[in-house]
Amino acid sequence: MATETATATATFGVPYDWAFVDDRFVPSGDARLGILANALSYGTGTFEGIRAYWNDDRQELFLLDPAAHYERMGQSAHILGLRLPHPVPRLVALTCELLRRNGVRANAYIRPLLLLGEQRLFVRMDGIAQWFCIAATPVPGDYISSGGVRCMVSSWRRSPDLAVPNRAKVIGSYVGPALAKTEALAHGFDEAILLTGDGYVAEASTSNIVVRRGDQWATPPASDDVLEGITLRQVRTLLREEYGATVTERRIHRSELYICDEVLLCGTAAGVVPVTEVDGRTVGGGIPGAAGLAVQQILRGIARGTDPRHPEWVTPVYSTQEDR
Ligand code: PMP
Repeated sequence: MATETATATATFGVPYDWAFVDDRFVPSGDARLGILANALSYGTGTFEGIRAYWNDDRQELFLLDPAAHYERMGQSAHILGLRLPHPVPRLVALTCELLRRNGVRANAYIRPLLLLGEQRLFVRMDGIAQWFCIAATPVPGDYISSGGVRCMVSSWRRSPDLAVPNRAKVIGSYVGPALAKTEALAHGFDEAILLTGDGYVAEASTSNIVVRRGDQWATPPASDDVLEGITLRQVRTLLREEYGATVTERRIHRSELYICDEVLLCGTAAGVVPVTEVDGRTVGGGIPGAAGLAVQQILRGIARGTDPRHPEWVTPVYSTQEDR
């Protein structure tokens, strides 16, 4: 069983002892894919990322909006011609069971994978058996600094929905964001912002973007090749409730980023992250904006079960035992 001490020294990406594979719990080391599994060569599959937050006072672990993630996985599967192996409530229950089996009492990241796992090398989506797994790994610290990050606009563009469906979280489509992030780090930045093929702001490597100019909030439309983010949806709700602000969907130029009062990144791994610099220009005076920090804190509180707002977004892991 994993302990808090063990997880504190553990590495992001190293799985806990148990994983759920196809239809049963197995030791993570026993989860196997053949070396010629279709998805290994072609990225033919979809994945999700779900966060779990530990609340030490309540001795409870909370999943943040797991149903929304499995619903999006269902949409991704539908686009790719795959099928979810279980209904969404069952997948949420299995995720709780996985965390309990692993004795997770620390912040964690859950990785459901649905892919073409059969060893067949046809470049096609049909007639190849799919493989499903849920794994979990510790999150020892911030995924990226939550106190304000420096971004560069990447030389890599977001691949258009015409080439790879962006509403599906397709495994193979993460080569572009990975190249962009690597480029940004190599140039001394924290994160990359990718533009669409025709030069409008799309999103960061693994998070959506929201900007504020005065009291006007905006985010790129879903048709600008972004993933329809769950954190973005939560942030829009909180901005409306806290500030009466409506986040408008409209196209955003690169140069507009330079003169915004606030730029926020929103994603499951990152949370809500203020951007303090883009391409060497300060954003909002180079310090995190008040609204972004407020929303960051509210969402953190909700995720950890310390803020009573939106209980429908959190699923307690240890007090939800109906699937036992
Ligand atoms: N865009 C991309 C490309 C991502 O990988 C993610 C992370 N899933 C997001 C946006 C943010 O989506 P979410 O808030 O649902 O994690």
